[in-house]
Amino acid sequence: MFYSKEEFKEEFTKRLGQDKVPQTAYAVLGAMMKELLEEDWVKTNQLYTESKVKQLYYISIEFLIGRMLVQNLHSLGIFTIVQEGLQELGFNLEELEEMEPEPGLGNGGLGRLAACFMDSLAALQLPGHGCGIRYKGGLFTQQIENGFQTEYPTDWLREIEGWEKRRDDLAVEIPFYGRLHPRHTDIEWVKAVPYDMPIVGASGRTVNTLRLWQAEVSERPLPAYKDFNEYTLETAAISDRLYPDDSLVTGKILRLKQQYFMCSASLQTIIKTLPGPVHELPHQVAIQINDTHPAIAIPELMRILLDEEGLEWEEAWNITTHTISYTNHTILGEAMEKWDSHLLASLVPRVYEIIHEIDRRFKEQLQEQVLKEQEFKKLSIIDDGLVKMAVLAVVGSYKVNGVAELHTDILKNREMKELYRQFPGKFHNKTNGITHRRWLIKANPELTQLITQSIGDDWLKKPILLNDLNKFIIDASFQEALKEVKRAKKNQLIAHVEKSWDSPIDPLSIFDIHIKRFHGYKRQLMNILHIQSLYDRIKEDSTYRPYPRTFFFGGKAAPGYEFAKQVIKLINVIAAKVNQDPLVRSHIHIVFIENYNVSHGERMFPAADISEQISTASKEASGTGNMKFMMNGAITLGTLDGANVEIVERVGKENAFIFGLHSQQIMLLEKHKNYRAQEVIEQSPELKSLMARLLSGELSDGTENISFIRNQLVDLNDPYFVLKDFHSYAAMHEKVLASYEDQGNWQGMSVRNIAESGIFSSDRTIQQYSDDVWDLKKILNVY
Ligand SMILES: *Cc1c(COP(=O)(O)O)cnc(C)c1O
Repeated sequence: MFYSKEEFKEEFTKRLGQDKVPQTAYAVLGAMMKELLEEDWVKTNQLYTESKVKQLYYISIEFLIGRMLVQNLHSLGIFTIVQEGLQELGFNLEELEEMEPEPGLGNGGLGRLAACFMDSLAALQLPGHGCGIRYKGGLFTQQIENGFQTEYPTDWLREIEGWEKRRDDLAVEIPFYGRLHPRHTDIEWVKAVPYDMPIVGASGRTVNTLRLWQAEVSERPLPAYKDFNEYTLETAAISDRLYPDDSLVTGKILRLKQQYFMCSASLQTIIKTLPGPVHELPHQVAIQINDTHPAIAIPELMRILLDEEGLEWEEAWNITTHTISYTNHTILGEAMEKWDSHLLASLVPRVYEIIHEIDRRFKEQLQEQVLKEQEFKKLSIIDDGLVKMAVLAVVGSYKVNGVAELHTDILKNREMKELYRQFPGKFHNKTNGITHRRWLIKANPELTQLITQSIGDDWLKKPILLNDLNKFIIDASFQEALKEVKRAKKNQLIAHVEKSWDSPIDPLSIFDIHIKRFHGYKRQLMNILHIQSLYDRIKEDSTYRPYPRTFFFGGKAAPGYEFAKQVIKLINVIAAKVNQDPLVRSHIHIVFIENYNVSHGERMFPAADISEQISTASKEASGTGNMKFMMNGAITLGTLDGANVEIVERVGKENAFIFGLHSQQIMLLEKHKNYRAQEVIEQSPELKSLMARLLSGELSDGTENISFIRNQLVDLNDPYFVLKDFHSYAAMHEKVLASYEDQGNWQGMSVRNIAESGIFSSDRTIQQYSDDVWDLKKILNVY
């Protein structure tokens, strides 16, 4: 279609016609890109079909993919041509990019990981595809009103032309409800229609597929008892939004429906399009389940093999447990999925029957061993009327992985130690990664250019080569250039956020950034309480006049998570106070970024000096935000948790700010229940005064109710050890200030972090999965 800037301009102008508004320009550009990659997409699929190579399917309830237009321009290798061409025609690519709605198909780290994996699979030219749900609304849009989080529906499918392709030819039917005996009758069928999105490999011609399923009304007859209107509404709800409110039983049913819908649709198509006989499934297909939301794929695959393919149990089980592998993402008890047996038995009766049989056979096997009652309980899939999805996932898959070394160790030695003893060979670690293409090359072209000028461009394809930057750690001119890049990224961020922010942000201040979901264990509360203590100190001590810092926060709280919402409110109340005070304002400034998402992240990671990674040790499975910051030269201020441990191993303790209790210490305090938050408060005048302010309502603007925060710190005995770690956190902030004064050393730390970040590219993670778990072959799309 076009190969040079001039050809692009000609084609673009021809299509644009007289209608030169940016909306039309965006639509024209999008359509041209779709056409451009279409050919490679078709060819890649043909190649996969003809060569019969093993395919990976990555099933995930979330895919937080971010905007695609500019990423695809990079992948197609025409970013510069298009950017310059548009400019010469009077259009600004950045402005056009802003028109692309960000798909809200994910919540946080889990969904973003899935998106990074899609990118790496295609870039490494490996045959791997995503399977998920095409939520109409996705996750809510956050606005801060009066300091409170308010939630608005997101409409990412609005008028603008998307990247997807509806595939009516591949629609399948999903069975819900009904009676089993003597046959499965009275089924409420739901039609699953796939929408395919192209995942374009970087400067290759591999175009893989992200297949998102949409629920629609089936043409099959409805059971006599079911009202058609009710059925229509219930069906639309399946692909309406991510994580519907599950405080009531109808919400729980809906979440389970989503999981089964996604798994059944994906598996039915996988089996239908298999190039060889079904007993060869493990050689033709690998299926990775991203956390337990898709764990129902295990009994569903059994159902298909038994009931539709007519296999015997033993053979079906052997195939299933050599095809499916499982990634665990959390050890937080409340996040370990459990389903009510009755609910499963009613919604998916045959699947429940199969889970029951898996559990019965596994328990029969366990009877041959001497096990304590407690151990037996831990190993039960069905226990006390509940189906434990994590146990089902381990029993039914051939490999189980945690997402950072520390996390995998905790799984093996504590959370899943009974399962680990039964299946020691299944457990392995795959430390998470991030795609350096989006988080460095796309998000920070200025830094990309500096790196390439310094070490050449081989690192673009082999990010581990960022290591070569180690020789610039004490290079004054490199340091100066790096400083310039940081300054530019800070100014860009300021220009972007000040539109919605009243007081000006100082580009010379230290940018200290805390962006992630709001959760107790992520300890945004500790950060804001520390800022309040800085405020007090500046007011009370006329000799304390610290170097200016801007504290950025961003993140959403789950709609039903009151504590997290009150932390958001508290931040905004303290921000209003701090930002209005002329004395304090010149030393500390607080900015809350509304509706944190991938697009905001792309502007924030490159602008950061300090990366706040302060989770309660042992609670954050890996974290990936920590890696994005590191790759952009920010220094980690954090605890020894998740992948922070591996980051510090790479850069050295002297190139990070590490504080707080270790995971072993936290786990001991939890086990022996001998932590007393009240004692910690009593021993510290600073905490005493902070708590007094909090409890007296002084840190409230009268509208909010900080009872949940008080309740957590006092009545619930501070379960995330905010008070316990407070002083070491504050001390580390002082060390940050002192270090920043020595700019030579600071820039050197920053270079060191970038130089060591290559190992955290998801290309490394994906290659390890492929070598150790999936056994994929690189397929070159040459023709
Ligand atoms: C990377 C990312 C996350 C995960 O951040 P953590 O700090 O690892 O929790 C969440 N949301 C978005 C938009 C991201 O880009």
